[in-house]
Amino acid sequence: MFEKVSEDVYAITDGSTVGNVALIATETGNFLIDTSMYPKVARDIRISVEKTKTGKLLGGAFTHYHFDHTGGSQIFHDVPMYGHALTKENFEKNYMTDEFLKRFKDSPQKDLFEGLRPTPPSRVYSTNPFVPEEFNNVEFIHTGGHTSGSILIRYIPENILFAGDNLFVGRYPWGGDPTASPYDWLNAMKTIQDMKPKKIVPGHGSVVDELTEINRYVKYLEKVIQLGEKLVIEKTDEEKALEALEEIDFLPESREGMKKGTLSRWFEVIKAKNS
Ligand SMILES: [Zn+2]
Repeated sequence: MFEKVSEDVYAITDGSTVGNVALIATETGNFLIDTSMYPKVARDIRISVEKTKTGKLLGGAFTHYHFDHTGGSQIFHDVPMYGHALTKENFEKNYMTDEFLKRFKDSPQKDLFEGLRPTPPSRVYSTNPFVPEEFNNVEFIHTGGHTSGSILIRYIPENILFAGDNLFVGRYPWGGDPTASPYDWLNAMKTIQDMKPKKIVPGHGSVVDELTEINRYVKYLEKVIQLGEKLVIEKTDEEKALEALEEIDFLPESREGMKKGTLSRWFEVIKAKNS
């Protein structure tokens, strides 16, 4: 379950929730970030949240709509759950529960999905930055990048940042979502650089306490965009362009096809912007 990150911040980053889950627990109450992939795991998370400090759950937020961060959302249906307007839209347009369940039907994790009922955010906002009324020591900064609705969340008193899936630590990121943008992703990374957070809780992988990972992402995204734009101008065909982009070295893939899927979407965005 939760490991302690700082005085007020806890996180689950061991992969048991698939997408990382975080908790801010103060003397006035608790605030949850993301809900894991599985309803069964989310029930345990809720029990743990209600045992931490005051145990009072004031609400929570989704960093973005992806299944591995929102599959347990129904377990928190009775507290205010915040999502950006574009995250709400992604829930409506891009969610793929049936397709996903089919993929997992015969897997050992089948039981963890029992009673699955993904629940979209009950509180929707579009101002930027945004501060939720129940918990005013966080701010949500909408950046897009990994998905159009992706946000960064900053816990102001400790300057701890929750990057959602704009940061995968130790492995190649998934950027193949139909709403992903390498330009927005790069801006998100630069926003993190400017904030100089003390610690960063990523969407996947371990908590980091320096900007090394972020700086690497900035360099990588800049290289991809620069080469991508050059290939567009030279009217290189898609297959050759992707081969060239794949040559740029970065983190190892956790699953084959992640890098190709990501670069294919990113090149599509680069092409649309530059032709
Ligand atoms: Zn994601």
